[in-house]
Amino acid sequence: MRVGIGYDIHRLKKGRRLLLGTVEIPFEKGLEGHSDGDALSHAVVDAVLGAMSAGDIGQLFPDTDKRHLGAPSAIFLEAAARIAKKKGFRVAHIDAVVVAEAPKLAPYVTKIAVSIAGFFGMPTANVSIKGKTNEGLGPVGEGRAIACTAVATLMPSGKR
Ligand code: MG
Repeated sequence: MRVGIGYDIHRLKKGRRLLLGTVEIPFEKGLEGHSDGDALSHAVVDAVLGAMSAGDIGQLFPDTDKRHLGAPSAIFLEAAARIAKKKGFRVAHIDAVVVAEAPKLAPYVTKIAVSIAGFFGMPTANVSIKGKTNEGLGPVGEGRAIACTAVATLMPSGKR
């Protein structure tokens, strides 16, 4: 069994779509970034890569590469799933925390879990998404950014 951790933070900006775990969430601001700014997907990708000691999302998809400008984070999740399969691993579980002062994420966590589980071909019950606020503290608490942490558990393919 292997365990990996991923972290990401993106600034919130007016006029951007808010995407978390590839799910669009209605909000007055969205996450800024070279790609679509989906901090949760990026944290999940880094957790999966980390469990395999396979580098990080920035090495795989440098933000200096114009091909990734505005890229949907689905392609990063697909790549992480592909690499895991190639290396003989199965993503068995994801646990993630989304720290956002707003919006409230509770109505969307199931949809997000369904989406993330789909990329790795695992049951939705094996993806845990938890929304938290930062109690008004720091840039996240002031509503200027959303930060995400994810932990991925990987098993050798074929093992339960
Ligand atoms: Mg990112």
